[in-house]
Amino acid sequence: MVKQVSKSSSIEPNLKHAVTLVTKMMAIPGKSGQEMSIMNFITQKLRGAGLPASAIKYDRAHKRSHINGEVGNLIVKMPAGAGRRSVGAARLLTAHVDTVPLCVGSKPTRRGRWIRSVDPSTALGADNRSGAAALLSAAVTMLERKLPHPPATFAWLIQEEIGLIGAKNASLRDLGRPRLAFNYDSGQPANLIIAATGAYRIAIEVEGVASHAGVHPELGVNAITIASMAIAQLQKDGFLGTIHKGQRTGTSNVGMVQGGEATNVVTPHVSLRAEVRSHNPRFRKTILNRFNGAFERAAKSVRNELGQAGKVRFESQLDYEAFRLGRREPCVVAAQRAVRSVLGKEPVLVAVDGGLDANWLTARGIPTVTIGAGQHGAHTVGETLNVTEFEQGCRIALRLATGTEND
Ligand SMILES: [Zn+2]
Repeated sequence: MVKQVSKSSSIEPNLKHAVTLVTKMMAIPGKSGQEMSIMNFITQKLRGAGLPASAIKYDRAHKRSHINGEVGNLIVKMPAGAGRRSVGAARLLTAHVDTVPLCVGSKPTRRGRWIRSVDPSTALGADNRSGAAALLSAAVTMLERKLPHPPATFAWLIQEEIGLIGAKNASLRDLGRPRLAFNYDSGQPANLIIAATGAYRIAIEVEGVASHAGVHPELGVNAITIASMAIAQLQKDGFLGTIHKGQRTGTSNVGMVQGGEATNVVTPHVSLRAEVRSHNPRFRKTILNRFNGAFERAAKSVRNELGQAGKVRFESQLDYEAFRLGRREPCVVAAQRAVRSVLGKEPVLVAVDGGLDANWLTARGIPTVTIGAGQHGAHTVGETLNVTEFEQGCRIALRLATGTEND
């Protein structure tokens, strides 16, 4: 069923102002751990719109990060307005503010309905300043027009790009224990992300035995040989890259190999970094065990003349757990209504193979749907922002923040 696109009762943000905001925000450097400048920009705009200083709070999520960082998550509880709208389900809107390093130096320039960086060596930063700006536009509109709304919390999250650190470490009490949660970090507003994959991060240390490669190669155990055999075995068995085993699917990658210092030394040590992903937790574990087994077997099979074999230290860490929300999950229902009311068409529910702040929020008991605000080509120099989709994302955000998704 298609509803009317625009109703006279719908409240709308100032879209020109929203585009100005996102353009300025994409130009502010802010790679993971260096989010102070962008946070200052956001709080200045909120204060300018009338938010009391007491409503601005930073948590200490950065203190739990392996890189520390300048600042924690910015969490703003909007003072409830008056009227019947002030009662309703508590809601949370989140967006990460950090960008990948490639975005530093971005010079956003608009041509028609697209914005890109005029500097060809940088990405734009639409991932995820588009989401951060959509939230800011909604909050500023609510403050300036003193709009009534149910309890609403905005969270601008840190360090998403290096492992979802802000979402993983935010306190649930700070987030307002919401009944409905919406994360902005995607492209097309018509696509609602209700599922994302889970991933392990793997560190493998291979220990061999050093020896002179010309004089006594028979006394050496080459760690490079062990690593190569393990990787070749995984490739042969179909456990590298895209993995299909019957109905079960996943991906894996060996992304970094470091070792060796000279050609005349049998290499005693190699470090590898790898990852494994699957929506299916059990199959993800199976892939992980395959990795472990391949390296263990390879290490045992390479021996020197004294019978010494190689050794492997295998460490894995669950980066984030997969999730899948039902279509009747309250946040999914609310987001679908908001999309219908803004776009006048039925949203598409999608699953993605990347990690999102929604992975951790959902795992921690806050089911979270992820919404788009126009970002495309993230993490590349070809990154763009689609202005039409950004504006739609802003309109959806204001409805969700004010509880008017049913209007
Ligand atoms: Zn992102």
